[in-house]
Amino acid sequence: MAKVLAVNAGSSSLKFQLFDMPSEEVITSGLVEKIGLDEGIFTIKYNDQKKVLNQEIKDHQVAVELLLNALVNEGIVESLEEIDAIGHRMVHGGEAYSESVIVSEEVVETVTQFNELAPLHNPANLIGLRAFQKALPNVQNVFVFDTAFHQTMKEENYLYALPYEYYTDYKVRKYGFHGQSHQYVSIEAIKMLGNPDTSKVIVCHLGNGASISAVKDGKCVDTSMGFTPLEGIMMGTRSGEVDPSIMPYLMKKLDCSADDILDIYNKKSGMLGVSGISSDARDIEAAYNQGDKRAILTSKLYARRVSKYISQYYGELGGCDALVFTAGLGENSAYLRKMIIDDIKEAFDIVLDEDLNKKRESGNRVISKEESKIKVMIIPTNEEVMIARDTVRLLKL
Ligand code: ADP
Repeated sequence: MAKVLAVNAGSSSLKFQLFDMPSEEVITSGLVEKIGLDEGIFTIKYNDQKKVLNQEIKDHQVAVELLLNALVNEGIVESLEEIDAIGHRMVHGGEAYSESVIVSEEVVETVTQFNELAPLHNPANLIGLRAFQKALPNVQNVFVFDTAFHQTMKEENYLYALPYEYYTDYKVRKYGFHGQSHQYVSIEAIKMLGNPDTSKVIVCHLGNGASISAVKDGKCVDTSMGFTPLEGIMMGTRSGEVDPSIMPYLMKKLDCSADDILDIYNKKSGMLGVSGISSDARDIEAAYNQGDKRAILTSKLYARRVSKYISQYYGELGGCDALVFTAGLGENSAYLRKMIIDDIKEAFDIVLDEDLNKKRESGNRVISKEESKIKVMIIPTNEEVMIARDTVRLLKL
């Protein structure tokens, strides 16, 4: 038995879950928000209780100390020595890591080289590591990369049709993200298929950020996010792919910089931009139900963008055994799942069970009918458990 802390440190937040392994039971979980601002928020859940503390949380070191003190003061652990290891989400591992890795100073040096490829995430993930190393110097740390699962893609899928030197000199290529989720969900889907020798799975991770991947025999063949998490399908506030020439055109029209346009692509586009209502699928659904034209258009566009990728990946995989929906929208939005399937059901002989699709249930489940050529599934994602599993595996706990 081992206690493993799974940590996801962002620029102003720190999410955590303490697992009992190998049972994978969550002992406690929580979130530190608004780090560095006047009004920090610390939330911790355990034993069906939730405690919230509002106070200034100066930096990540303070956030980590707050969390560790709470573990002892609330009696969740008797002493911090009970924590056997810490697994950290690290967004970018470049081409150096196709697997999770035990942290050493050499690993930190390598990962730091990828900061410029994920400037919003990697430096924050590293700050989280440093804060834990300071507070718990004798505990080993593991990095679990968002990009690692996608490192099995072949050149023809990860290269852009740009001068080849930009790949060799500047590392410009498709990396893909949400790796822990795509891996976890595809493992679960293969189990649900009865662990066949070969399998073809398409995973639709539809959250605020969203990506789709094609997984053959448990290995990633292709994925929709690219050099950055902006490429691919339309998301809550992100555009997904657009013709690159739109950027200079809009720069002239709006008299603004490339960074300004990128900011529009990242924060003002997607569901929010098209609908003019909200980035949240629940708000779009409410407006759709009231017949709002822009909400209807947003839903259709979203569904089409997703269904185009599914069609493409069906071709790349040479078929599909399971089409899986996961993450906030994928797990919860019945009407968008139906719209996506409606787009492709004729081509691929998919028969959705509309009652099962609408039914609010938890856990892994199949929502297609027996006669459907492709099994459609909902599998709630669990990125944290992948972090804990890899940490246990690498450290042989
Ligand atoms: P992320 O981890 O990328 O921030 P999540 O996976 O939590 O995102 O997904 C968040 C999104 O999921 C929300 O913005 C919302 O659009 C969608 N969502 C959550 N719950 C529901 C629901 N009950 N119905 C429809 N959409 C939902």
